[in-house]
Amino acid sequence: NFALSRLFTVQWAKGCILIIILCAYVAGCYGIVLDAGSSRTTIYVYEWPAEKENDTGVVSQIFKCSVEGPGISSYKNNPGAIAKPFDDCLNKVKERIPAHLHKNTSAYLGATAGMRLLQNETAASEVLASIQSYFRAQPFEFRGAHIITGPEEGVYGWITANYLMGNFLEVKETMGALDLGGASTQISFIPEDSQDYSNSTLQVKLYGYEYNVYTHSFQCYGRDEAEKRLLKSTASFKVDNPCYPQNYETAFTMKSLCGSLCTQSLRPANYHPNQLVKFHGTGDPALCQEMVSLLFNITACRDRDECPFNGIHQPKVKGNFVAFSGFYYTINALNLSGHFSLSDFNSSMWFFCSRSWVQLHFMLPKFEETYARSYCFSANFIYYLLVHGYKFDAETWPQIHFQKEVGNSSIAWSLGYMLSLTNMIPAERKLIQLPLKP
Ligand code: AMP
Repeated sequence: NFALSRLFTVQWAKGCILIIILCAYVAGCYGIVLDAGSSRTTIYVYEWPAEKENDTGVVSQIFKCSVEGPGISSYKNNPGAIAKPFDDCLNKVKERIPAHLHKNTSAYLGATAGMRLLQNETAASEVLASIQSYFRAQPFEFRGAHIITGPEEGVYGWITANYLMGNFLEVKETMGALDLGGASTQISFIPEDSQDYSNSTLQVKLYGYEYNVYTHSFQCYGRDEAEKRLLKSTASFKVDNPCYPQNYETAFTMKSLCGSLCTQSLRPANYHPNQLVKFHGTGDPALCQEMVSLLFNITACRDRDECPFNGIHQPKVKGNFVAFSGFYYTINALNLSGHFSLSDFNSSMWFFCSRSWVQLHFMLPKFEETYARSYCFSANFIYYLLVHGYKFDAETWPQIHFQKEVGNSSIAWSLGYMLSLTNMIPAERKLIQLPLKP
């Protein structure tokens, strides 16, 4: 995977140099990245001044649009239907970029864990081919639809966060990056001694400095997939859920709960995809915490330091971290922001999880049922992942900054991806190299 991605990087970079040269003759340059996540696709438009593309901090996000409907992996049985929902956002993108620059504007689509989880390779290629053919009819320079690996997703998020915060400008401390997506979660940071974690370390050279970034992506530990695992942890068809608010009622089909690779082992022997499972919220924070703990295989790390869960080797967390995407949305729902103590987090979580469904309607500034019902689960999941998994404690917790953007630019892997593929961050060597010891 690393070798392949390096090959793509080199080939694309060559093409992109041409685009950058073209940019030098116009007032500004633009780039488009489509983040094809498991739960939705988000389109980002970036702009930078011509002739300055190699300066740090000059690329900024000028537009963001969420494509209507689910993530692209949901179209696995009907790839032909992918294109239509893109139209609305793409029309807005066309208005944001001067028409005479459309053909010189590169567009990249990177798909993450939702697509990595598709068991059927043919379905995955059909989904990507359908996007490719949609873009053939668009005015932009489409540079391909690719599934990025977990470590790439982690390291591009780390590049974005540190680029936007200006940490590459001088020899400044970099920040670690914590990303919570729908299907996977990533942790990336510079450890005390990266040599010990060479298989999980990517060497990144930026502006003449070499960084050994430890990165790990936990597949199936994204917010949505983790919640499905919790919902399906019981064999019954009528279930009390302590993580849902009191008096909240809903039902899911078996297929929506255990249709993915993360949950297929939880399918009952008499699996009927359309069978309904009913849930009743009991809003019980202590019980919710207990159920969430069962999602983590801590015993695989018994007696091992530097092992979060599932037997994965991870160095001790070090320095400041920025936690974005799903981490941010949940913290925001708990009415917290920036950095705060672990005990403040715990009391807000406890308060939130004890609210009834009716009370939540009044508490949340923007009420969306699918998110509102799950914040208590997400908060408990975040607590368990960060404290029992990554081993943040009362002392190190305030080093985590929950933040979704810097200025108006989102902290997401997409910007780091574009900067890397266009070689816009100069380095004497290629941006992302093979692991230290393959
Ligand atoms: P994304 O940023 O689209 O990768 O989403 C990451 C996770 O956050 C997914 O589990 C989404 O379901 C969830 N999510 C996305 N938008 C929101 C929101 N506005 N409020 C709460 N959760 C969200």
